[in-house]
Amino acid sequence: MVEGMFIDTMVNMNWTEIQSYVDQNAWVLLPVGVIEEHGPHLCLGTDIYTAHLHCLAIKQKIEASGRKVVIAPPFYWGVCQSTGGFIGSFRVRKETAVALLVDILTSLAGFGFKQIYGINAHGDIEQNIVLIEAFKEASERLAIRAGYPFSEAVMPHYGLKGDEAYICPVKPQAVRVSASTVPDVHAGDIETATMHHHYPHLVDVEKAKILPPVTLDDDRIMTWLFGGHTKSLSADGYLGAPAAFDRVEVLRNINDIAERVSEAILAHGLKT
Ligand SMILES: [Zn+2]
Repeated sequence: MVEGMFIDTMVNMNWTEIQSYVDQNAWVLLPVGVIEEHGPHLCLGTDIYTAHLHCLAIKQKIEASGRKVVIAPPFYWGVCQSTGGFIGSFRVRKETAVALLVDILTSLAGFGFKQIYGINAHGDIEQNIVLIEAFKEASERLAIRAGYPFSEAVMPHYGLKGDEAYICPVKPQAVRVSASTVPDVHAGDIETATMHHHYPHLVDVEKAKILPPVTLDDDRIMTWLFGGHTKSLSADGYLGAPAAFDRVEVLRNINDIAERVSEAILAHGLKT
């Protein structure tokens, strides 16, 4: 059986099905990622596959509250700033990504959808700025409510207070889902485990098992996130402990993310 990130998205529907979602006043989830290198053991599509998996779980949670939800086509031409020096990291300009996202949101609004949420699985600083700018523009210019569920812990670094019309503050993770003491910043144990659980054929398990943990102190993590020095900080292009992937509670992690994000979306969506 062929699986993939189009499962249960608009890509696999005909237009009359999408019309019926509009008629039922469905909320839209837009999976957002990038195509970028994820170490020598994971495929370039790791972030967008992950964003799609998160959307499937978030959809279930929101639908349990009686709302209809539909997943938009996965959007994967985001900004690869931190890993931009590697082969496989496609470098889309920030303004291109913002313009493209706004066009997608405008299309969805044109179809008749009234509430749209961007589910992003790529943590680049520039990528977050792209989402913030695009959702701000869409919520100001279009007759829709457009929201970006965003970690409330990092919001202040972006000059956000959390009461902006286009932001849905997400609570920090309170459960521990990984046995690794080395955080998964990029292509570490959690990302590797998530891909291995859902797409085992896309993970080079033998390679993942022999990769030594790579960690950086806080200053150098910021250097990584700002980009441009990734190769000197991590020659193999990962930051974390891929080999510890078999001790990650994948489904518990996805369930916890879906719980916190759906709570943030519902709080935003039901606000009058
Ligand atoms: Zn990633």
